[in-house]
Amino acid sequence: MYYNENTTLYCNGSFLKASEAKTDLYGQTLHYGYGVFEGIRSYQTENGTKIFKAKEHYERLKRSCELVNIPFTYSVKELEELTYEVLKRNNLSNAYIRPLVYCDPNMSLSRPTKVNLMICAWEWGSYLGDKMLRVCLSSFQRPNPKSVKVEAKVNGHYVNSILATTEAKDKGFDEGLLLDMHENIAEAPGANFFCEKDGKLFTPPLGNILPGITRATVLELCDELDIPYEVRHLKPAELKNMDAAFFCGTAAEVIGIASIDDNKFKKSWLETVAYKIQMAYQDKVHERKMAVHTA
Ligand code: PMP
Repeated sequence: MYYNENTTLYCNGSFLKASEAKTDLYGQTLHYGYGVFEGIRSYQTENGTKIFKAKEHYERLKRSCELVNIPFTYSVKELEELTYEVLKRNNLSNAYIRPLVYCDPNMSLSRPTKVNLMICAWEWGSYLGDKMLRVCLSSFQRPNPKSVKVEAKVNGHYVNSILATTEAKDKGFDEGLLLDMHENIAEAPGANFFCEKDGKLFTPPLGNILPGITRATVLELCDELDIPYEVRHLKPAELKNMDAAFFCGTAAEVIGIASIDDNKFKKSWLETVAYKIQMAYQDKVHERKMAVHTA
């Protein structure tokens, strides 16, 4: 599904066949979840294949490494070039790209001295699908910033995400929505959260969430489209009064939420500013001139 016998990936200075690439079973990343990664998309645009916000993603990868003391020396420019090369060698244009920084064999809990970089890519549809989602409030909280560096995209943090998504699916929902340690709405297991009231968007502040690049893009789109927004903490009880809500992330893009714990949002999706954002996001990633989208 992610690779076949022709797939090439980048690993530590070489381009290798994915089916022949090896890793060490004594690595710190495999044993302790101590590594960092990114999730990036490229799109077929009128101007050729373009990686959306490559610089922002690779700056976050480097920042994630810094935050958790992983020595990482690649420059953003090098990373960008290597990624275009991976796409080219695999003949991919609409792709999901997964860079992974993983650590060498080390069974101790000490700082790593040597790290490895792998970059692979594959074709991937919208992560949460293209239908409005049935979401439930999760019984899991997002990791506490006093326990981990929540702003770093660290492998081990995704145990929390897998628990939350699995719980939601086992209960018959599409996805969960997690609160933070103060019972404020935080984010989805792999996406940020927005909601809408009277044509205005609301989203939780940074601090207890991953600083999403799509979240930042949505805020940029609000400025471009004159859509008012407020970045503030939100309590679950407020959701009942909201007109609409959506998740956003590189893999999920912008995807509407039909209901949370079976409480349906009042407005029809096509009448929301959230829908305008969803359309404008597609225009932006595909480098299309922004059309005015009305229902
Ligand atoms: N929150 C979490 C926990 C995520 O895993 C992701 C996906 N990287 C996001 C938010 C959205 O981030 P981005 O828009 O940068 O993909």
